This record gives sequence, C-alpha cells and structure tokens, in this order.
Amino acid sequence: MAHDKETLMEKIVSLSKRKGFIYQGSEIYGGLAGTWDYGPLGLALKNTIKSLWWKRFVDSREDMYGVDAAILMNQNVWKASGHVGGFSDPLVDDLVTKKRYRADHLLEDAGINPLGMTPAQMDALIKEKKVKSPDGNPLGEVRQFNMMFKTHVGALQDETSISYLRPETAQGMFVNFKNIIDSFHPTLPFGMAQIGKAFRNEIAPRDFNFRSREFEQMEIEYFVDPRSEEGVMKVFDELYTEQLAFLNDLGLPQSKVHTLEVPAADRAHYSKRSVDTEFDFPFGKKELLGLAYRTDYDLKAHIEASGVDLSYFDEATKQRFVPHCIEPTFGVDRLVLAVLSNAYTEDALGGETRTYLAFSPKISPVLAAVFPLLKNKPQLIEEARKVYSTLRKEFGARISFDDNGNIGKRYRRQDEIGTPYCITVDFDTVEKGAGVTVRNRDTGTQERIPVDELVNFLKKALG
Ligand code: ATP
Repeated sequence: MAHDKETLMEKIVSLSKRKGFIYQGSEIYGGLAGTWDYGPLGLALKNTIKSLWWKRFVDSREDMYGVDAAILMNQNVWKASGHVGGFSDPLVDDLVTKKRYRADHLLEDAGINPLGMTPAQMDALIKEKKVKSPDGNPLGEVRQFNMMFKTHVGALQDETSISYLRPETAQGMFVNFKNIIDSFHPTLPFGMAQIGKAFRNEIAPRDFNFRSREFEQMEIEYFVDPRSEEGVMKVFDELYTEQLAFLNDLGLPQSKVHTLEVPAADRAHYSKRSVDTEFDFPFGKKELLGLAYRTDYDLKAHIEASGVDLSYFDEATKQRFVPHCIEPTFGVDRLVLAVLSNAYTEDALGGETRTYLAFSPKISPVLAAVFPLLKNKPQLIEEARKVYSTLRKEFGARISFDDNGNIGKRYRRQDEIGTPYCITVDFDTVEKGAGVTVRNRDTGTQERIPVDELVNFLKKALG
C-alpha cells in the first residue's frame, strides 16, 4: 500500500512512542530538542543491530581490535584533529523569528546543491536567489558554528580545564593506536573498532532520530600499508562490500540502498576518497553510512601535536612508516530508523486494515509471542507457560507471553511491534498432543507444529 510521504514519518514517530520503541528525550518537561530516549523495544532493536555489527566486523575476524575509549578527552586531541578549528556547520538566522537554520539545508530545500560551497558562497546565493526561511522571512548572514559541546573537567573553570563531548568515536581509536601496537603487535592491515555515543550541537536537529544532538556510532579505523595504492583501494572496496553485506544482514532491501562516490570538491579535507551509502528514508534519500580514506592525516596530526611516535615498523622490509587509514562509519540511530521505516507496512488482512512492522526475524525485538487460547482455562495456561519457558531458555527476552484480550487483538498487538510468529496453545495441544498453532505475521496463515520442534523452527527462522 502506498504511503503519503508527509504522514508516513508521523505514523512511524507515533507508533514508536505508543509501542515503546523511541520516546522524545525529557518529554515530561517539554522535551530537549535533538535528544531521544529508547524504550524497551527500540533498545532491543539497537542492541541487536550493535551485536550483529560487532559479530560481523570484530568477532568473526582476526584483524580487528575492539576498544571502548572515554567520551571526555584531553582538549588537545580535538585541537590536533582539527575539530576545534573547523568542525562547524553554516548557520543562518531567520531575521524575524530568530530561529536558526543550516544554510546548506535551506539551499537544498530551494533546489540548489550546496555541496562543496564555502559560507561566503552560500551567503551570496541566498541573497541572489532570495532564499527565505521556512516561515517565509528574510535570512541573515551565513556564518560558521562549531558543533562541539564544550564543558569543563574538574572544579576550576578556565582555559586549561576545557573538554568536549566527543563529536565522533574515531579519535578515541587514533589516540590508542600505539597502545594496540604495544600490547598486541598486530601486522598491517588491521583495524580498531568501537561503538559509542557521539555528540554534535546540530543547528537544526530534524527528521526524528536521523539528525540528533546525541547519537551512537559504530566506527572502524582500518590501518593499511600506504606503499601500494592498489592494495589500499582493494581494502577500501572490500570494506565497502562488507558495509553493504551488513545492511543485508539487517534485512534492508538493495533497492533502497544507494552508493554515492563523493566528488573531490565535496569530500572532507582529509579524505582522498569517500563513498557514502544513502538510504531511501521516508523524507528522501539521505546518508546512512560513510566510508572515507583518511590517509595518514589523523596519525600524523597526533604525532605532531603530542610528540609521540605513532609510526609502524614493518618487520618484513625493515621499514618504518605511518600507516594510512580507511574509516567505515555507521550511525546506529540512522540504522534503527532505516529498519523501522522499511518495516512499516499497512495492508488488509481478513477484510480489516492493519499496521505491522515487517522486521526480518533476525532483528525483530520479539521473535515469538506465546498465547494460551483462553485466559481462564488453567490447563491451557499451564501448557503455554511451559512452552514459553522452554523458548525463553533458548531465545531469552525475545520471547514474550500474552494472555490479554482475545486472540485477534493479541495478533494485532504483535503485528504492530513486528513479531514474526505467534504461538497459540489450544485444546488440541493439551487434549490430543496435536502441537501448537504458529501464525505467520506477514501472511496471517497458521500451521501446526509439534511442541518439541518449536526451538528448531525458530532457529531456522533466524538463519
Ligand atoms: P551529515 O552530513 O548527515 O550531517 P556527516 O557526514 O556529518 O552526516 P559523519 O561525520 O560521516 O556524518 O558521521 C558518521 C555517521 O554518523 C553518519 O554516517 C551518520 O550515520 C551518523 N551521524 C552523523 N551525524 C548524526 C546526527 N546528528 N544524528 C544521528 N546520526 C548521525
């Protein structure tokens, strides 16, 4: 069924809140713009995404080293990385309402591609094309706005105590490069991986959790031998293929995933090659993942600023050099939104319209719900409880129990949160040993399955 573009997002936001996926941050105080709180189902989805990622990129490889660096870092890290001087977005004010906007976003909305433009160029275009604010008012001058959240560490608030909430997890890996070399003596190529929070004081957070001020990243800094450019590009392509394979793990269809080879003028200044992976979100095609060839920019910057040697000694050739780095980066919250919006489905079943989330069983927060057909029949409850506890031992909290309301209502409830299977214990189960009914979310059809085959049935569904 086709969705109205405007209302699809509203429906997703409302379902997310109603069903316990994602709530507005600090909601009872009117919220805090750009922050979102994950409820039990959203958290389950996020944790599954993170664990599938860790499994694919860290646990199943021999060349990856996981780290969990502190969010607060010495301010010199951010001076060296270039964030203090240059981590900024172009800001512009509505001269009447005083609301602030991203100048590049307003240009995009006006059908002008702002990529690669300086603030002065954007300013000139806004004036030339008479671009207005969304409220139809004139705009002020475009200026740069640093997006890092500044804070002070310790009791003294002076220049020396400044720190920042990290705007990316990447630097936590570069500053630990030497630690990994010294502790594990890896040979190139090898990578460091980290999952953690990042904070950006976005000028205009928008599109639900797509652009927030606090979000989570999953990043890899993959170090390669720069002496063979061909070798570096081969690794770059392999990492890109792995990024796509991960999206496939999450059940995201290839048809909604797009590759953007970022033109030189639009790349971050440190990147020699960037490939963004875009996704068809309900509000348009937008960046979901990134892949950047950061060269030796970061390690060299930290060598210069810290005076610490962050080079690598190649035993085979007896040469010492600074490795180059390729960075695949993933936004956890954007992946949650991609998975949620892709799963949102409306159809008609048995003559009734319904809403369901067509999650792949691999990522569905609830894999199966167990019901006794009737709530007031002790023998049905007892058997359903038995089935429930057997499945829970195997699949943990991804199995739920429901005896509230009639079966039809329970199916609707499970459909709305995307539960692929509903297992019902009825009289034939207890009186004839005829197994349970397993109802398929997508088709609404039921099949009978012997109780002792349920574990295998669900394992098979997980792939
Ligand atoms: P954008 O151009 O959309 O602002 P970016 O190019 O600045 O994104 P990166 O710096 O490459 O993003 O960050 C790596 C990843 O972190 C992005 O691909 C995205 O998935 C995620 N990310 C970045 N900013 C945000 C944000 N404000 N909210 C949620 N996720 C984000």
